[in-house]
Amino acid sequence: MPASSITHEVVMPGQPRSLATILLVSLATSMVGAQYASAQDFDEVQIRTEQITDGLYMLVGSGGNIAVSVGEDGTFIVDDQYAPLTEKIVAAIGEVTDEPVDFVINTHWHFDHTGGNENFGGRGAVIVSHANSRTRMETDQFVELFSENQRAYTRDGLPKITFDESVRFHLNGHTIDVVHLGRAHTDGDAVVYFREANVMHTGDVFVRYGLPFIDQPNGGSIDGMIAVTDRIAGMTDHETVFVPGHGPLSYRSDLLTFNAMLRTIRERITSVIESGGDFEAVLAANPVEGFPERGIETTSWLRLVYDSLMEGY
Ligand SMILES: [Zn+2]
Repeated sequence: MPASSITHEVVMPGQPRSLATILLVSLATSMVGAQYASAQDFDEVQIRTEQITDGLYMLVGSGGNIAVSVGEDGTFIVDDQYAPLTEKIVAAIGEVTDEPVDFVINTHWHFDHTGGNENFGGRGAVIVSHANSRTRMETDQFVELFSENQRAYTRDGLPKITFDESVRFHLNGHTIDVVHLGRAHTDGDAVVYFREANVMHTGDVFVRYGLPFIDQPNGGSIDGMIAVTDRIAGMTDHETVFVPGHGPLSYRSDLLTFNAMLRTIRERITSVIESGGDFEAVLAANPVEGFPERGIETTSWLRLVYDSLMEGY
């Protein structure tokens, strides 16, 4: 698996750099594969905190990016990485607030985004997810691409509140919409939009590590990834700051580049399928040509995409 550097500085428009970026702890690199590898050494992981705007932060460690809102109404976080990192995450949050975590939103059920659920739920946080994500977390799951078993969560780790379409929070001066825009990365994805701050956590429907994992056996599809990123583009503007599922803070232009890549690859694959080609023919056509082959290994990735397209044939 390729390494992708996630250490960088982000400067928000109109803000001095010192305000835009707070590096509490620096972290050198992250491996896409390591986000899923169960054998990784969590002792080595450090949590880096970046301020996005007043009271709103992104935490980067191992696994999915975490968004944190702090303020007079309490502490609200989006995703919680892996269980062995909870103490470090709590310590990083403790640098910006004295209040415990009240709400945890799960952007989807994958273990690199929800591994801390039992710890946070056990400390009294209310976990919230799409209904399908809770259903997944109630029983053992298997993530085929990484040959990874995800065991059922205990009561503490399961979302106490679920929604089908959307739920709105009014906290810390934010209107926060948690919205399911359709099946995309999995069958239970949600994006979290801080409306006034114009900041959106996309979960894994938008990532910056290259060819994105699409969990086709568990309800994901490339058509869903394209449709949902289209809808996100329609909800946001060129000043929106994105917290992607993995990778650095981003703008809508990055999301549109990602969407265009998926569209181009999809068109190339469907033209092979429509002229009677099978998966071997798709591979031979090299539909990812011109795009960086990093992230998920290309042949495995094309298999997921091909299988998701064949569902429609
Ligand atoms: Zn995921």
